[in-house]
Amino acid sequence: MKNKILIVGAGITGITLAEKFASKGSEVLLIEKRDHIGGNCYDFKNKDGILIHKYGPHIFHTDYKDVWDYISQFTDWFYYQHKVLGLIDGRLAPIPFNLNTLYELFPLKFAQKLEEKLINKFGYNKKIPILDLKKTKDKDLKFLADFVYEKIFLHYTEKQWSLKPEEIDASVTARVPVVISRDDRYFQNKYQGMPKEGYVKMFEKMLQNENIEVQLNTDYKKLKNKIKYNFLFYTSPIDEFFNYKYGRLDYRCLKLDFQTFNQESYQPSAVVNYPNNYDFTRIIEFKKLTQQNHRKTTIGIEYPGNEGFMAYPVLDEKNKKLFQKYLKEAEKLKKQNIYFVGRLAEYKYYNMDEAVKSSLDLFNKINYGRRK
Ligand code: FAD
Ligand code: UDP
Repeated sequence: MKNKILIVGAGITGITLAEKFASKGSEVLLIEKRDHIGGNCYDFKNKDGILIHKYGPHIFHTDYKDVWDYISQFTDWFYYQHKVLGLIDGRLAPIPFNLNTLYELFPLKFAQKLEEKLINKFGYNKKIPILDLKKTKDKDLKFLADFVYEKIFLHYTEKQWSLKPEEIDASVTARVPVVISRDDRYFQNKYQGMPKEGYVKMFEKMLQNENIEVQLNTDYKKLKNKIKYNFLFYTSPIDEFFNYKYGRLDYRCLKLDFQTFNQESYQPSAVVNYPNNYDFTRIIEFKKLTQQNHRKTTIGIEYPGNEGFMAYPVLDEKNKKLFQKYLKEAEKLKKQNIYFVGRLAEYKYYNMDEAVKSSLDLFNKINYGRRK
Protein backbone atom coordinates (compact mmCIF):
# COMPACT_ATOMS: atom_id res chain seq x y z
CA MET A 1 0.00 0.00 0.00
CA LYS A 2 1.22 3.48 -0.80
CA ASN A 3 2.24 5.74 2.06
CA LYS A 4 0.00 8.76 2.41
CA ILE A 5 1.92 11.86 3.29
CA LEU A 6 0.53 15.21 4.36
CA ILE A 7 2.85 18.20 4.14
CA VAL A 8 1.80 21.55 5.59
CA GLY A 9 3.41 24.55 3.89
CA ALA A 10 4.64 24.79 0.30
CA GLY A 11 7.90 26.63 0.93
CA ILE A 12 11.25 25.20 -0.11
CA THR A 13 11.12 22.78 2.87
CA GLY A 14 7.68 21.35 2.07
CA ILE A 15 8.45 21.20 -1.66
CA THR A 16 11.72 19.32 -1.10
CA LEU A 17 10.00 16.78 1.13
CA ALA A 18 7.15 16.40 -1.38
CA GLU A 19 9.57 15.78 -4.24
CA LYS A 20 11.64 13.25 -2.30
CA PHE A 21 8.76 11.19 -0.93
CA ALA A 22 6.81 11.26 -4.21
CA SER A 23 9.90 10.07 -6.07
CA LYS A 24 9.84 6.97 -3.85
CA GLY A 25 6.21 6.28 -4.71
CA SER A 26 4.45 7.89 -1.74
CA GLU A 27 1.20 9.76 -2.29
CA VAL A 28 1.72 13.36 -1.22
CA LEU A 29 -0.81 16.02 -0.37
CA LEU A 30 0.89 19.42 0.01
CA ILE A 31 -1.30 22.12 1.52
CA GLU A 32 -0.51 25.82 1.53
CA LYS A 33 -2.49 28.62 3.08
CA ARG A 34 -1.25 31.32 0.70
CA ASP A 35 -2.44 31.48 -2.92
CA HIS A 36 0.97 30.49 -4.28
CA ILE A 37 3.74 27.97 -3.77
CA GLY A 38 7.31 28.87 -2.80
CA GLY A 39 6.85 30.30 0.70
CA ASN A 40 9.11 33.28 1.23
CA CYS A 41 11.19 32.38 -1.84
CA TYR A 42 8.24 33.21 -4.12
CA ASP A 43 9.02 35.26 -7.23
CA PHE A 44 6.79 36.55 -10.00
CA LYS A 45 6.81 38.89 -12.99
CA ASN A 46 5.21 42.25 -12.15
CA LYS A 47 3.03 44.13 -14.62
CA ASP A 48 6.08 45.51 -16.39
CA GLY A 49 7.47 42.01 -16.86
CA ILE A 50 10.28 42.33 -14.31
CA LEU A 51 10.87 39.24 -12.19
CA ILE A 52 10.72 40.29 -8.53
CA HIS A 53 10.96 38.56 -5.17
CA LYS A 54 7.76 39.28 -3.27
CA TYR A 55 9.26 38.57 0.16
CA GLY A 56 12.73 40.09 -0.19
CA PRO A 57 15.90 39.21 -2.09
CA HIS A 58 16.78 35.50 -2.27
CA ILE A 59 20.23 34.39 -3.40
CA PHE A 60 21.05 30.70 -3.34
CA HIS A 61 24.39 29.96 -1.68
CA THR A 62 25.73 26.83 -0.06
CA ASP A 63 28.75 24.75 0.81
CA TYR A 64 26.67 21.56 0.86
CA LYS A 65 27.45 19.71 -2.34
CA ASP A 66 24.50 17.35 -1.85
CA VAL A 67 22.11 20.32 -1.62
CA TRP A 68 23.59 22.05 -4.68
CA ASP A 69 23.48 18.84 -6.74
CA TYR A 70 19.94 18.12 -5.62
CA ILE A 71 18.56 21.59 -6.41
CA SER A 72 20.51 21.74 -9.69
CA GLN A 73 18.39 18.88 -11.04
CA PHE A 74 15.49 21.32 -11.26
CA THR A 75 17.11 24.48 -12.56
CA ASP A 76 19.97 25.97 -14.53
CA TRP A 77 21.82 28.82 -12.86
CA PHE A 78 23.11 32.31 -13.36
CA TYR A 79 26.47 32.07 -11.63
CA TYR A 80 25.85 35.16 -9.57
CA GLN A 81 28.13 36.33 -6.73
CA HIS A 82 26.26 38.71 -4.43
CA LYS A 83 27.83 42.05 -3.46
CA VAL A 84 26.28 44.62 -1.16
CA LEU A 85 27.08 48.28 -0.67
CA GLY A 86 26.19 50.27 2.43
CA LEU A 87 25.68 53.98 2.81
CA ILE A 88 28.21 54.90 5.49
CA ASP A 89 29.06 58.51 6.23
CA GLY A 90 27.58 59.48 2.89
CA ARG A 91 29.71 57.06 0.85
CA LEU A 92 28.77 53.75 -0.69
CA ALA A 93 31.21 51.18 0.67
CA PRO A 94 31.27 47.36 0.57
CA ILE A 95 29.49 45.33 3.26
CA PRO A 96 30.61 43.05 4.94
CA PHE A 97 33.22 45.44 6.24
CA ASN A 98 36.50 44.26 4.70
CA LEU A 99 39.86 45.75 3.74
CA ASN A 100 38.33 47.50 0.73
CA THR A 101 35.81 49.17 3.06
CA LEU A 102 38.64 50.18 5.35
CA TYR A 103 40.46 51.98 2.53
CA GLU A 104 37.22 53.50 1.22
CA LEU A 105 36.33 55.09 4.56
CA PHE A 106 39.63 55.97 6.25
CA PRO A 107 42.63 58.14 5.34
CA LEU A 108 45.35 56.05 3.66
CA LYS A 109 47.94 56.10 6.46
CA PHE A 110 45.41 55.22 9.13
CA ALA A 111 43.90 52.47 6.97
CA GLN A 112 47.39 50.99 6.46
CA LYS A 113 48.03 50.98 10.20
CA LEU A 114 44.68 49.34 10.93
CA GLU A 115 45.17 46.77 8.18
CA GLU A 116 48.53 45.76 9.63
CA LYS A 117 47.13 45.51 13.14
CA LEU A 118 44.15 43.45 11.99
CA ILE A 119 46.36 41.01 10.09
CA ASN A 120 48.85 40.71 12.96
CA LYS A 121 46.14 40.07 15.51
CA PHE A 122 43.73 37.85 13.61
CA GLY A 123 45.54 36.69 10.47
CA TYR A 124 44.79 37.37 6.81
CA ASN A 125 41.54 36.04 5.37
CA LYS A 126 39.94 35.58 8.78
CA LYS A 127 36.34 36.51 9.54
CA ILE A 128 35.66 38.12 12.89
CA PRO A 129 32.15 38.67 14.25
CA ILE A 130 31.74 42.30 15.31
CA LEU A 131 30.91 41.34 18.89
CA ASP A 132 34.29 39.55 19.09
CA LEU A 133 36.15 42.45 17.48
CA LYS A 134 34.63 44.71 20.14
CA LYS A 135 36.46 42.73 22.84
CA THR A 136 39.89 43.68 21.51
CA LYS A 137 42.13 45.69 23.87
CA ASP A 138 44.39 47.44 21.32
CA LYS A 139 43.48 51.14 21.20
CA ASP A 140 43.36 51.43 17.39
CA LEU A 141 41.50 48.16 16.88
CA LYS A 142 39.07 49.17 19.61
CA PHE A 143 38.46 52.41 17.74
CA LEU A 144 37.84 50.45 14.54
CA ALA A 145 35.52 47.99 16.29
CA ASP A 146 33.47 50.80 17.82
CA PHE A 147 33.31 52.55 14.45
CA VAL A 148 32.10 49.46 12.59
CA TYR A 149 29.69 48.60 15.40
CA GLU A 150 28.19 52.09 15.39
CA LYS A 151 28.15 52.72 11.63
CA ILE A 152 27.15 49.27 10.35
CA PHE A 153 25.57 47.17 13.08
CA LEU A 154 23.95 49.15 15.86
CA HIS A 155 21.30 51.15 14.05
CA TYR A 156 20.63 48.51 11.36
CA THR A 157 20.06 45.92 14.10
CA GLU A 158 17.84 48.29 16.06
CA LYS A 159 15.74 48.86 12.94
CA GLN A 160 15.73 45.19 11.98
CA TRP A 161 15.00 43.68 15.40
CA SER A 162 14.14 46.51 17.79
CA LEU A 163 17.06 45.07 19.77
CA LYS A 164 20.71 45.92 20.21
CA PRO A 165 23.31 43.53 18.72
CA GLU A 166 24.12 42.17 22.22
CA GLU A 167 20.47 41.35 22.90
CA ILE A 168 20.13 38.91 20.04
CA ASP A 169 21.80 35.54 19.51
CA ALA A 170 25.42 36.20 18.52
CA SER A 171 24.99 34.03 15.41
CA VAL A 172 22.71 36.70 13.88
CA THR A 173 25.28 39.51 13.56
CA ALA A 174 27.98 36.90 12.93
CA ARG A 175 26.26 36.24 9.59
CA VAL A 176 27.96 39.44 8.41
CA PRO A 177 31.46 39.30 9.97
CA VAL A 178 34.33 41.73 9.54
CA VAL A 179 36.43 40.16 6.78
CA ILE A 180 40.20 40.57 6.88
CA SER A 181 40.79 40.27 3.17
CA ARG A 182 39.83 42.01 -0.07
CA ASP A 183 36.94 39.60 -0.62
CA ASP A 184 33.91 41.86 -0.66
CA ARG A 185 31.32 39.26 -1.60
CA TYR A 186 28.37 38.96 0.79
CA PHE A 187 28.69 35.18 0.79
CA GLN A 188 31.85 33.16 0.40
CA ASN A 189 30.22 29.78 -0.17
CA LYS A 190 31.50 27.46 -2.86
CA TYR A 191 28.20 27.30 -4.73
CA GLN A 192 26.25 30.50 -5.42
CA GLY A 193 23.68 31.42 -8.00
CA MET A 194 20.22 32.49 -9.05
CA PRO A 195 17.82 30.02 -10.67
CA LYS A 196 17.84 30.96 -14.35
CA GLU A 197 14.07 31.13 -14.71
CA GLY A 198 13.32 32.00 -11.10
CA TYR A 199 12.40 30.10 -7.96
CA VAL A 200 8.78 29.35 -8.81
CA LYS A 201 9.71 27.72 -12.13
CA MET A 202 12.23 25.60 -10.22
CA PHE A 203 9.62 24.64 -7.62
CA GLU A 204 7.09 23.77 -10.33
CA LYS A 205 9.60 21.29 -11.72
CA MET A 206 10.10 19.79 -8.28
CA LEU A 207 6.35 19.29 -7.97
CA GLN A 208 5.83 17.70 -11.39
CA ASN A 209 5.49 14.14 -10.07
CA GLU A 210 1.93 12.84 -10.49
CA ASN A 211 2.05 11.49 -6.92
CA ILE A 212 1.92 15.09 -5.66
CA GLU A 213 -1.30 17.02 -5.18
CA VAL A 214 -1.01 20.68 -4.22
CA GLN A 215 -3.88 22.52 -2.55
CA LEU A 216 -3.45 26.29 -2.27
CA ASN A 217 -5.55 28.57 -0.07
CA THR A 218 -5.78 25.72 2.39
CA ASP A 219 -5.11 26.29 6.07
CA TYR A 220 -4.08 23.26 8.10
CA LYS A 221 -6.22 24.48 11.01
CA LYS A 222 -9.37 23.95 8.96
CA LEU A 223 -8.35 20.55 7.59
CA LYS A 224 -6.49 18.83 10.34
CA ASN A 225 -9.11 16.37 11.47
CA LYS A 226 -10.36 15.60 7.97
CA ILE A 227 -7.29 14.05 6.37
CA LYS A 228 -5.86 10.59 6.97
CA TYR A 229 -2.10 10.17 6.60
CA ASN A 230 0.76 7.88 7.63
CA PHE A 231 3.22 10.76 7.89
CA LEU A 232 2.73 14.44 8.63
CA PHE A 233 5.48 16.94 7.85
CA TYR A 234 4.66 20.29 9.37
CA THR A 235 6.70 23.24 8.01
CA SER A 236 4.55 26.04 9.45
CA PRO A 237 4.88 27.82 12.81
CA ILE A 238 5.34 25.26 15.58
CA ASP A 239 3.54 27.34 18.23
CA GLU A 240 0.45 27.50 15.99
CA PHE A 241 0.39 23.68 15.74
CA PHE A 242 0.12 23.50 19.53
CA ASN A 243 -2.49 26.26 19.68
CA TYR A 244 0.03 28.60 21.32
CA LYS A 245 -0.41 26.70 24.58
CA TYR A 246 2.84 28.05 26.05
CA GLY A 247 2.52 31.45 24.36
CA ARG A 248 3.50 32.92 20.99
CA LEU A 249 6.96 32.76 19.50
CA ASP A 250 7.96 36.20 18.23
CA TYR A 251 8.71 36.88 14.58
CA ARG A 252 10.15 40.00 13.07
CA CYS A 253 8.02 41.04 10.11
CA LEU A 254 8.88 42.85 6.90
CA LYS A 255 7.05 45.10 4.50
CA LEU A 256 8.35 45.83 1.02
CA ASP A 257 7.48 48.97 -0.85
CA PHE A 258 7.86 48.21 -4.58
CA GLN A 259 8.49 51.07 -6.99
CA THR A 260 9.12 50.97 -10.73
CA PHE A 261 11.14 53.63 -12.55
CA ASN A 262 11.31 54.50 -16.19
CA GLN A 263 15.10 54.17 -16.22
CA GLU A 264 17.48 51.26 -16.79
CA SER A 265 19.31 51.42 -13.50
CA TYR A 266 18.52 52.72 -10.01
CA GLN A 267 21.62 51.95 -7.90
CA PRO A 268 25.10 50.52 -8.44
CA SER A 269 24.48 47.10 -6.84
CA ALA A 270 21.55 44.71 -6.39
CA VAL A 271 21.32 45.58 -2.69
CA VAL A 272 22.25 48.79 -0.90
CA ASN A 273 22.06 48.77 2.91
CA TYR A 274 21.17 51.88 4.87
CA PRO A 275 22.44 51.14 8.38
CA ASN A 276 22.10 54.67 9.71
CA ASN A 277 19.66 56.65 7.66
CA TYR A 278 15.90 56.31 7.15
CA ASP A 279 13.51 53.76 8.66
CA PHE A 280 14.19 51.10 6.04
CA THR A 281 17.17 48.78 6.15
CA ARG A 282 17.89 48.15 2.49
CA ILE A 283 16.86 48.73 -1.11
CA ILE A 284 16.85 45.87 -3.59
CA GLU A 285 17.04 46.37 -7.32
CA PHE A 286 15.73 43.07 -8.65
CA LYS A 287 17.00 43.11 -12.22
CA LYS A 288 20.57 43.27 -10.88
CA LEU A 289 19.96 40.06 -8.94
CA THR A 290 18.41 38.23 -11.81
CA GLN A 291 20.42 39.78 -14.64
CA GLN A 292 17.36 40.87 -16.61
CA ASN A 293 17.62 43.35 -19.43
CA HIS A 294 14.74 45.79 -19.30
CA ARG A 295 14.34 49.47 -20.07
CA LYS A 296 12.62 49.95 -16.70
CA THR A 297 13.69 48.87 -13.23
CA THR A 298 11.83 47.84 -10.07
CA ILE A 299 13.12 48.32 -6.55
CA GLY A 300 11.88 47.02 -3.19
CA ILE A 301 12.41 49.14 -0.09
CA GLU A 302 12.53 46.89 2.97
CA TYR A 303 10.88 48.04 6.22
CA PRO A 304 11.21 45.80 9.27
CA GLY A 305 8.63 45.99 12.06
CA ASN A 306 5.59 44.25 13.43
CA GLU A 307 3.59 44.50 10.22
CA GLY A 308 3.83 42.60 6.97
CA PHE A 309 4.80 38.97 6.59
CA MET A 310 6.55 36.79 9.19
CA ALA A 311 10.19 36.91 8.13
CA TYR A 312 12.62 36.12 10.95
CA PRO A 313 12.52 34.15 14.22
CA VAL A 314 13.58 36.49 17.04
CA LEU A 315 16.42 34.52 18.62
CA ASP A 316 16.59 36.18 22.04
CA GLU A 317 16.62 34.36 25.37
CA LYS A 318 12.87 34.54 25.93
CA ASN A 319 11.99 32.98 22.58
CA LYS A 320 14.75 30.39 22.68
CA LYS A 321 13.37 29.14 26.03
CA LEU A 322 9.81 29.13 24.76
CA PHE A 323 10.81 27.21 21.65
CA GLN A 324 12.41 24.48 23.81
CA LYS A 325 8.99 23.85 25.39
CA TYR A 326 7.39 23.32 21.99
CA LEU A 327 10.31 21.20 20.84
CA LYS A 328 9.74 18.83 23.76
CA GLU A 329 6.11 18.42 22.68
CA ALA A 330 7.19 17.94 19.07
CA GLU A 331 9.68 15.21 20.02
CA LYS A 332 6.85 13.18 21.55
CA LEU A 333 4.92 13.21 18.28
CA LYS A 334 7.69 11.48 16.30
CA LYS A 335 6.20 8.19 17.51
CA GLN A 336 3.10 9.10 15.52
CA ASN A 337 5.18 9.98 12.44
CA ILE A 338 4.64 13.71 12.88
CA TYR A 339 7.74 15.78 12.10
CA PHE A 340 8.51 19.49 12.35
CA VAL A 341 10.84 20.81 9.66
CA GLY A 342 11.94 24.18 8.23
CA ARG A 343 12.39 27.76 9.30
CA LEU A 344 9.05 28.17 11.04
CA ALA A 345 8.70 24.70 12.55
CA GLU A 346 12.30 24.44 13.79
CA TYR A 347 12.31 28.17 14.67
CA LYS A 348 15.73 28.60 13.09
CA TYR A 349 17.25 31.40 11.03
CA TYR A 350 17.67 28.97 8.14
CA ASN A 351 18.98 30.00 4.75
CA MET A 352 17.38 28.12 1.85
CA ASP A 353 20.19 25.58 1.67
CA GLU A 354 19.83 24.77 5.36
CA ALA A 355 16.09 24.25 4.92
CA VAL A 356 16.80 21.88 2.02
CA LYS A 357 19.54 20.13 3.99
CA SER A 358 17.23 19.61 6.96
CA SER A 359 14.57 18.16 4.62
CA LEU A 360 16.98 15.86 2.77
CA ASP A 361 18.50 14.60 6.03
CA LEU A 362 15.07 13.85 7.48
CA PHE A 363 13.98 12.11 4.29
CA ASN A 364 17.14 9.97 4.29
CA LYS A 365 16.64 9.07 7.93
CA ILE A 366 13.05 7.99 7.43
CA ASN A 367 13.62 6.30 4.08
CA TYR A 368 16.65 4.44 5.36
CA GLY A 369 14.77 3.44 8.53
CA ARG A 370 11.88 2.02 6.47
CA ARG A 371 14.16 -0.04 4.24
CA LYS A 372 15.88 -1.67 7.19
P1 FAD B 1 8.62 29.30 4.35
O1 FAD B 1 9.22 29.76 3.08
O2 FAD B 1 8.21 30.34 5.35
O3 FAD B 1 7.37 28.39 3.98
C1 FAD B 1 6.41 27.99 4.95
C2 FAD B 1 5.06 27.94 4.25
O4 FAD B 1 4.06 27.48 5.20
C3 FAD B 1 4.59 29.32 3.80
O5 FAD B 1 4.31 29.29 2.43
C4 FAD B 1 3.34 29.59 4.63
O6 FAD B 1 2.35 30.32 3.92
C5 FAD B 1 2.84 28.17 4.91
N1 FAD B 1 1.95 28.09 6.08
C6 FAD B 1 2.06 28.74 7.26
N2 FAD B 1 1.05 28.39 8.09
C7 FAD B 1 0.27 27.51 7.40
C8 FAD B 1 -0.93 26.80 7.71
N3 FAD B 1 -1.55 26.93 8.91
N4 FAD B 1 -1.47 25.98 6.77
C9 FAD B 1 -0.86 25.84 5.55
N5 FAD B 1 0.28 26.48 5.20
C10 FAD B 1 0.83 27.31 6.12
N6 FAD B 1 17.79 32.35 2.23
C11 FAD B 1 18.86 32.20 1.43
O7 FAD B 1 19.39 31.08 1.31
N7 FAD B 1 19.35 33.23 0.69
C12 FAD B 1 18.81 34.48 0.75
O8 FAD B 1 19.28 35.40 0.08
C13 FAD B 1 17.69 34.68 1.62
N8 FAD B 1 17.14 35.90 1.72
C14 FAD B 1 16.07 36.07 2.53
C15 FAD B 1 15.51 37.34 2.60
C16 FAD B 1 14.41 37.55 3.39
C17 FAD B 1 13.82 38.93 3.45
C18 FAD B 1 13.84 36.49 4.15
C19 FAD B 1 12.63 36.71 5.00
C20 FAD B 1 14.40 35.22 4.07
C21 FAD B 1 15.52 34.99 3.29
N9 FAD B 1 16.11 33.74 3.17
C22 FAD B 1 17.19 33.57 2.36
C23 FAD B 1 15.61 32.58 3.94
C24 FAD B 1 14.55 31.76 3.18
O9 FAD B 1 13.44 32.57 2.92
C25 FAD B 1 14.15 30.56 4.04
O10 FAD B 1 15.27 29.75 4.30
C26 FAD B 1 13.11 29.69 3.37
O11 FAD B 1 12.01 30.44 2.92
C27 FAD B 1 12.62 28.64 4.37
O12 FAD B 1 11.65 27.86 3.74
P2 FAD B 1 10.53 27.12 4.56
O13 FAD B 1 9.79 26.27 3.59
O14 FAD B 1 11.11 26.46 5.75
O15 FAD B 1 9.59 28.28 5.14
N1 UDP C 1 23.50 43.57 9.92
C1 UDP C 1 23.78 44.88 10.25
N2 UDP C 1 24.13 45.74 9.26
C2 UDP C 1 24.20 45.37 7.96
C3 UDP C 1 23.93 44.04 7.62
C4 UDP C 1 23.57 43.17 8.63
O1 UDP C 1 23.68 45.25 11.42
O2 UDP C 1 24.53 46.22 7.10
C5 UDP C 1 23.13 42.64 11.02
C6 UDP C 1 21.64 42.75 11.36
O3 UDP C 1 21.47 42.48 12.74
C7 UDP C 1 21.06 41.64 10.51
C8 UDP C 1 22.13 40.57 10.64
O4 UDP C 1 23.36 41.29 10.64
O5 UDP C 1 19.80 41.23 11.00
C9 UDP C 1 22.14 39.53 9.55
O6 UDP C 1 22.19 40.17 8.29
P1 UDP C 1 21.78 39.45 6.94
O7 UDP C 1 22.11 40.37 5.83
O8 UDP C 1 22.34 38.09 6.94
O9 UDP C 1 20.20 39.37 7.10
P2 UDP C 1 19.09 38.83 6.07
O10 UDP C 1 19.66 38.91 4.69
O11 UDP C 1 18.79 37.45 6.54
O12 UDP C 1 17.98 39.80 6.28
